[in-house]
Amino acid sequence: MNLCDLAPEYIHSIAPYQPGKPISELAREMRLDENSIIKLASNENPFGTSPLALEAMRKALGEVMRYPDGSGFELKNALSKKYAVDNDQIVLGNGSNDVLELAARVFLKPGASAVYSQHAFAVYPLVTQAAGANGISVPAKNYGHDIDAILDAIKPETRVVFIANPNNPTGTFLSATDLLRFLKRVSQDVLVVLDEAYNEYLPEISRANTIVWLSSFPNLLITRTFSKIYGLAGIRIGFGLAHANVAGLMNRIRQPFNVNSIGLSGALAAIDDVEFIRRSYELNQAGMLQITTGLRRLGLKYIPSYGNFLSFCVNNGRATAVYQHLLKQGVIVRPIGIYEMPQFLRVTIGLESENHKFLQSLENAIKED
Ligand SMILES: *Cc1c(COP(=O)(O)O)cnc(C)c1O
Repeated sequence: MNLCDLAPEYIHSIAPYQPGKPISELAREMRLDENSIIKLASNENPFGTSPLALEAMRKALGEVMRYPDGSGFELKNALSKKYAVDNDQIVLGNGSNDVLELAARVFLKPGASAVYSQHAFAVYPLVTQAAGANGISVPAKNYGHDIDAILDAIKPETRVVFIANPNNPTGTFLSATDLLRFLKRVSQDVLVVLDEAYNEYLPEISRANTIVWLSSFPNLLITRTFSKIYGLAGIRIGFGLAHANVAGLMNRIRQPFNVNSIGLSGALAAIDDVEFIRRSYELNQAGMLQITTGLRRLGLKYIPSYGNFLSFCVNNGRATAVYQHLLKQGVIVRPIGIYEMPQFLRVTIGLESENHKFLQSLENAIKED
């Protein structure tokens, strides 16, 4: 028998993750100038990266012949100060995707199951399947998480529930009240992964201190990332906060140097750049208003979003055609058919000029299509 045929069936059946189209690829395909292309497809920070982080990373380049600090000591110290947790409650990851995978590998195995919502982040089914476990997708309510349905879907063999808040790609949000109600009802032998990749984009009134919940719920894992508002998606740093016992198991199976030295330096400096975060937040608020106003003017429906992106509806099965039309005009957005939302496109909030070009190109695409 062929070697590859002998790989487990659950590996064969994994649908590969589809990332946003890179600028360089579109430039090649459409013979466009890279500088004329705008990418609003991966929820990156259009404002760039904190200058403090850039400076720190330049300095760190001089030491790349050495292995990074495998314990991430300095970054963990800074995180522990910022979030009032102990160092042994922190798991650093090569992006928060790595942390999600570590959680799956620790708690899932063939015969176990993980529960997540329909339209939730694509990495949850991916890491669940990679661990050989069974994924249970729960129908969404108004595109968001249906807490009661999720509770009902949990089976005796369920070990993990994934919840993205806000969720990507829908931008929907669960209040602290709903989440607490959920946490109180979930059995403590189920790990609740609360993925807060977009937490920093929440307005002050919606943002709860979820991290203090860790002391009441030893089965809670909160994940955060430097990929979104911190503008460091390329250097791959994310982290998880949990009870020390949970973090300890995850740290046991991670690769000894899963986080790189440039990333460690950049993240450490980025934490302190409060001004950069504030401006990124404000830029996003203004851009969200610009895009929602524009979509309304074009008569397009959208799902109100708490993140730095927005999913809007293109009726009559034309989402793919509109996506292609936007590509021809040098605008990359994200089709979300794999999220069971084939009639939607997701756009990341960009700079004012990018949002303007997106809206104009969209108007062209809709008129001409
Ligand atoms: C972008 C995103 C992440 C972050 O992934 P990284 O690996 O940290 O870049 C995590 N969860 C969700 C829901 C996201 O959209």
